[in-house]
Formats: sequence, C-alpha cells, structure tokens
Amino acid sequence: MSPASLPWVEAWLPGARAQVLSRHHAWLIAGRRGDGLAHAARALAASILCERPRAGGACGECESCHWRTAGAHPDLLHLTVEAADDETFRLPTIKVDAARAAVDFATRSASSERGRVILVEPADALSLESANALLKVLEEPAADTRWLLVAERPARLLPTLRSRALRLVLPRPTAAQALAVLTRAGLAETRARKELRLHSGAPMAVLDANASEADLTEARDRFLGALSEPRELSALAWGQWVDLGGKLGRRQRFGAILSWLSLWLAERQRVLAGVPPRVLAVEGLRQSPEPRERGALLRYYRDVQRALALPDSTLAARVQVERLLLEFRALFTP
Ligand SMILES: [Zn+2]
Repeated sequence: MSPASLPWVEAWLPGARAQVLSRHHAWLIAGRRGDGLAHAARALAASILCERPRAGGACGECESCHWRTAGAHPDLLHLTVEAADDETFRLPTIKVDAARAAVDFATRSASSERGRVILVEPADALSLESANALLKVLEEPAADTRWLLVAERPARLLPTLRSRALRLVLPRPTAAQALAVLTRAGLAETRARKELRLHSGAPMAVLDANASEADLTEARDRFLGALSEPRELSALAWGQWVDLGGKLGRRQRFGAILSWLSLWLAERQRVLAGVPPRVLAVEGLRQSPEPRERGALLRYYRDVQRALALPDSTLAARVQVERLLLEFRALFTP
C-alpha cells in the first residue's frame, strides 16, 4: 500500500524526517503494527535516502528510490527476523549473525552524502545477544549512519538499547481514516466497521487478518458463539483447530484463539458489571451462564493474558488451548 493511501502516516512523515535529520543518530519508532507502523518506518527510511523527497515521502523516481525499490540500495540495510526453523516453536528473532553484519555495514562509508540508514524492524524481536551486539555501535556511531529501531512494544527492548534512542511515535488514524482504508480495499462498510471494532480500530490489522487466513473470521464468529454455551464447548475440537495448517498457521491460530477468548471474557465482565459490551452482541453474552465465582473469572482472564504474553507461548499450543478451554468450562459448571 502506498504512503499516499495512509493519510496519518503521510502527515507524520515530514516532521519525523526533519527530526531524524536534525539531530541524533538512533531513533525508536513506536506505534501500533496494525496502524501501519512497519510501513511508516520504511517510508521514513525511504524519504531520508531520497534525492528529491516530497511532503508525503520519497519521490519514487530518483536513482536512490529506484535502487531501494529494487531491494539493492547500497546505503539501506533492513535488519529483520529470519523465518523460524522447523525445530522450534519460538517466535522468529533477529539473529546475532545478522546483527553483527549490520554493525559491519554501519562502519563502511556511505555512497552518498545522505548517509546510511539501518532499519531494525521489528526491534522487539532482537535476541538478547543481538541487542548486545548493537550496543557499542549505538554508543559510538558513525556520523552519517542513522538507526531506526521500530517497536510496537518498546518495553521489550533492552533498557540500555532503548536509552540510546530518541523516540518518535506514529499517531493513530482517526476512525474515518481507518474506515476509508478498508472500504478502498474493497470491504463493505458494515463489515469494515465491525472488523475495526474487533481489531481496536487498527486498519492494517484488519487487512492482515483478512489476507492471511480467510477462514479465521469465520472461525472467530463460531468460537465466540461457542463460548456463550460453555457446557457445549469442545476443548478437543478447538485444540485440533489450532494445530491445522503448519507451524506458522499454528502460531497465528494460537494467538487468535487466545485473543478472542480474552475479548469475550472482558466483554462478559462488562455485562456482569452492568456496562454495555464494546464490540460483541449483547444477547449472546447475557444468555451465557453465570460463572460459578466472579473472582475466578478474573483470575482466569489473567491466565489467558499471561499465555498471550509469553514469547514462546506456541510451545505445545494445542495442549495449552485444550487446558485453557477445559478450565473455561469448569468456570461455568456448578
Ligand atoms: Zn526519490
């Protein structure tokens, strides 16, 4: 998607570019992935290297832009994750070899006076060893090198790394801007509104979810419906569902099912407290049985949040889902 079609990114770019060029060599670009964070950071790198940048970003026509779009720009390095190997269930990380190569790159001289840009994206995927490899070069950087560390969760970065970078925050789109992105991408307006509510107003998160697995949306609606009848809920069937479609699919389904579960629990809690739900239809939530004990519901909610936050939480994904869903049923069984 071009920068011109994400107006909040376009509006952010000139100020961000001016800041990065005016001082300091290391920047932490924070924001939400679903708001187009990676796209914004790449557009920023492009506009720094562009020979004739415009208000909305790189020109797309100069020699520098041509090299960049061909993936062969001599002054741009994208330090990113390698797809995980088949042996582990860990989330992909930025490997230390790649980090060391970036350090080498940073010590070479740039091919133009616009200098060099190293885009570390996502920086919250740096392994401890990789982050340590970058520390020294971030402390004593070459004059014409700029580091852009892109992180949705800056708190996950090594504090010593974080403290060496100044922060730029990507603003959120307005509701109208987010809706416009989705309708332009071909979603009907009613559907687009519903999906935005389910994805906390983040339009790129909606597009990612739609592009990656069409059946996720269908499964989500089925799963949320099933939670309202806990005694009928099949922990086994949903455990199997998580296991479908290879390792990448498993990671995505595992994250999805836990986030749906946590959404449902938060909404059920609102209804129990007499507050209208934010996203889900109120009928299903009202019809669902009373939990045995409200305190247990909250403790369970925290368990789900913890499972979601673990970096290698897809280890034994199926077993974890089955366990959580059996516990869920028990919450409602007298
Ligand atoms: Zn250009």
